[in-house]
Amino acid sequence: KPVIAIVGRPNVGKSTIFNRIVGERISIVEDVAGVTRDRIYSSADWLTHEFNIIDTGGIDIGDEPFLDQIREQAEIAMDEADVIIFMTNGREGVTLADEQVAKILYKTKKPVVLAVNKIDNPDMRDMIYDFYSLGFGDPFPISGSHGLGLGDLLDEAAKHFPEQDEVEYDENVIKFSLIGRPNVGKSSLVNAFLGDDRVIVSDVAGTTRDAIDSEYEYDGQEYVIIDTAGMRKKGKVYESTEKYSVLRALRAIERSDVVLVVLNGEEGIQEQDKKIAGYAHQAGKAVIIVMNKWDAVDKDEKTMNEKTKEIREQFQFLDYAPIVFTSAKTGKRVHNLLPVINRVSENHAMRIQSSILNEVISDAVARNPAPTDKGRRLRIYYATQVAIKPPTFVVFVNDPELMHFTYERFLENRIRDTFEFEGTPIRIITRARD
Ligand code: GDP
Repeated sequence: KPVIAIVGRPNVGKSTIFNRIVGERISIVEDVAGVTRDRIYSSADWLTHEFNIIDTGGIDIGDEPFLDQIREQAEIAMDEADVIIFMTNGREGVTLADEQVAKILYKTKKPVVLAVNKIDNPDMRDMIYDFYSLGFGDPFPISGSHGLGLGDLLDEAAKHFPEQDEVEYDENVIKFSLIGRPNVGKSSLVNAFLGDDRVIVSDVAGTTRDAIDSEYEYDGQEYVIIDTAGMRKKGKVYESTEKYSVLRALRAIERSDVVLVVLNGEEGIQEQDKKIAGYAHQAGKAVIIVMNKWDAVDKDEKTMNEKTKEIREQFQFLDYAPIVFTSAKTGKRVHNLLPVINRVSENHAMRIQSSILNEVISDAVARNPAPTDKGRRLRIYYATQVAIKPPTFVVFVNDPELMHFTYERFLENRIRDTFEFEGTPIRIITRARD
């Protein structure tokens, strides 16, 4: 999908516009274990266009001077986006800071669309003329608070979307990515994968952007490591900016079937680890937890069990994810990962016959009757699998309001007890039968 980035000095209304464009989708956040999505990156659509959008203003650069922050945000936008929306504030006119942003953006070869925000009514349109001086052509008047002008702005942005955005891989290819905080050993693990003699590295596919994937084959199965380049890319912005690595991770997750959440065995589990893992879970990807640097841990025969317990406690929402202990340094168990990747990827794409599924559900209901509310009992009529990756089930009932999440959880567990869904989230959607 094409990527739009919003850039501009502070207080021009970037996040308001971002939220407008993204609409409801961000608020559908699963509030599990404090997992909330950073409001800096989301998929969105406008008419027939689907795209991803970044609010660079939300990228926390730290305590650097103002100008450096703007510069870094603009550089991230120039790196990551196909189209840049340069936002200004019509009520304040062109400011020095706008000119500074413009100066940075002159360097980019990416298309820039200039938006003048806070033009809340047609009488204020005259205010946009000043902005021609920035040298980005026609300014587009918009109003974030009233939601005006966004259609024209997005039409203009969409004109600049590249033709073919991302490489498409064959369906049989397993696409996976490694995500995690800096220095947990992601690139070392990738090198360990690709450095093995039995691994045939077939190709390195470059996309229109700098994202580079590694294609390889092992034991007759083809794989693609998504965004190998991003993992290997080191530099000031990439290292120092937590939210930027999150952004990179979100993009890799989106293109993957299987996500390896890499943790550093030398350090305790951190909030950021949970957040990153939460993105993979929310995106409905198959997940494997990789406890790396296991060589560096002082251990006895109990350590692995203890660590497993800790991971299970900290990542309750990932109770379905297998855990693999690796050392990218010594290579130990790195190749255990491949069979696990194969397995969870298969589970992620599994289809269950409706007849068997319904037997499981009615058996579950017989054991543990459906809940009642104000004297009415939930009745389940029928269940069917409607999607894979992740497996998604629709349960038809008399009244969806009567489906309590604990009961949904119970049904999920019954399904998991019966079928092999290790490594994959499953989704249950409750619908009223008409
Ligand atoms: P990334 O930022 O997640 O890609 O992490 P890197 O792969 O760059 O690794 C960060 C540092 O940890 C490097 O100094 C690696 O040599 C080291 N490292 C990576 N994996 C292991 C491991 O399994 N064991 C040990 N002891 N060190 C590791």
